[in-house]
Amino acid sequence: MLSRSLQIFFTLTCLSLPLYCYTIDNDCGVDRDFVQQGADDAFALAATAVAELTRNPINPAIDVIFQKLFGQTVANRITNKDLLEVNLMKLATISQLDGAIGQADTDVRFYCTTKRIEKRDDGQYYNKDTDYVYPESEITSRWASCFDLIEPTLAITTNPDRGPSEIQICPWYLSKARGVKFRDFKSINAITWGALARVSMPLVSSFFYTPIDAFHLFDKVLLHELTHTYQFGRAIDMGNPGSPYGWKNCKGLANIFMATGGTDNNLDPQWNSDSIALLCSAIQLTVNGITVQDDGKLNPPQRNRKRDVVMYPVTWVA
Ligand SMILES: [Zn+2]
Repeated sequence: MLSRSLQIFFTLTCLSLPLYCYTIDNDCGVDRDFVQQGADDAFALAATAVAELTRNPINPAIDVIFQKLFGQTVANRITNKDLLEVNLMKLATISQLDGAIGQADTDVRFYCTTKRIEKRDDGQYYNKDTDYVYPESEITSRWASCFDLIEPTLAITTNPDRGPSEIQICPWYLSKARGVKFRDFKSINAITWGALARVSMPLVSSFFYTPIDAFHLFDKVLLHELTHTYQFGRAIDMGNPGSPYGWKNCKGLANIFMATGGTDNNLDPQWNSDSIALLCSAIQLTVNGITVQDDGKLNPPQRNRKRDVVMYPVTWVA
């Protein structure tokens, strides 16, 4: 916990320089410190990536990973040269937590519950405080799954017309990420149990995902979300064709990009959120002396039962 005087200092720092901050909504309650740790780790992953991508000469192992995920080496990008580094650098400007608990001015706000959102009679999801309507295209695929727990969305970011980018950590995922059981079992219906059952099937999910996908999972998911924000430049989930998530799929996106000449901005995985989050995660592992293999496995393999058992969803959306 920050001391009171330190909190005031940070608040003044953020307000006086219109230097941007991130905030954690009150609704995170006892999870506040956990979310802060995850967010700080996510910003640290981005900062390490920037340091390594701008190092001259670049670590060859990192350049190889970059080429797998983006089709070209760091130096030989034909289009969007330096794009990733520049966008990741922008995250550094909001990497300071605003210590204020209230509704401080902010660029990104993390939410742990959907209390501010209500589904009204017209079937749309509203922000109760601002009457902002969450986009219809997101309702069935994402908000609903986060709000009603009908499929395993981990987290979702929206960029309202006014105000900060909102990063919603889905409540069920937060509980899973903490490795704790739901606090309120009465609120869980049968459909939710279906979603949870799928979350804990490591054997099946390992068919779709690789160890690098699970590593740094909570911070990697938060970094994935941060790349969707205004501040980063609004990277997207490029799932057409294919899926935008996971090592195998991201390598596939790089192949598609290169098969069309490596010049089409709309296909450049430097705009795909999960490619970016995976790169940052892989760079951190490389710096730590772990080799990320072509098949997404790690050498030496990382043995962390909690991550292995709890954190492998079969399908996920973020
Ligand atoms: Zn996403």
